[in-house]
Amino acid sequence: MEYIKSKIRDVVDFPSKGIVFKDLTTAFKDPRAIHILGWDLSQLYRDKGITKVVGIESRGFICGSILAFELGAGFVPARKPGKLPAETIQCTYEKEYGKDTIEIHKDAISEDDIVVIHDDVLATGGTMAAAYELVKSMNPKKIYINFIIELGALNGRKALPKDVDVDSLIVY
Ligand code: AMP
Repeated sequence: MEYIKSKIRDVVDFPSKGIVFKDLTTAFKDPRAIHILGWDLSQLYRDKGITKVVGIESRGFICGSILAFELGAGFVPARKPGKLPAETIQCTYEKEYGKDTIEIHKDAISEDDIVVIHDDVLATGGTMAAAYELVKSMNPKKIYINFIIELGALNGRKALPKDVDVDSLIVY
């Protein structure tokens, strides 16, 4: 994990003043780092019978797809409004400034699925909590939650359901 950490770039005051943005593009472009990421993420779920990985737009698409490939599961995108072509369900949630919405295709998950929802970074947890509500409304057998990075000081786990397994590879 020290190798991955050495490839994550801190960008100060992005996207707004006071935020230290954990930039994973510097890890994704490194062949060894992205290989380790894919392997280590998939090791968390090898024996869980995962059938679908839901990736949150847009940075959750990158390792979410790798995770799906490694686990022999399908991949489902959770996207910003208006991007998905077929019928969707939506969840609107509070952000620091104003509201945001994410969508998922209505037929993306079935009751037989075992799902892991993946995003790159857990900050306040609002985005993942909304994604969880969408997936849960489709009644899969079980849901797991996964991040590459967890920003511990923001206590985003508080926003997530207590009875769900939440795993992060790196906690700052
Ligand atoms: P959250 O506050 O947990 O809802 O985070 C919203 C989204 O913004 C997540 O999808 C993260 O990928 C991203 N994000 C929030 N804070 C950071 C940060 N400090 N560095 C990188 N990404 C972040």
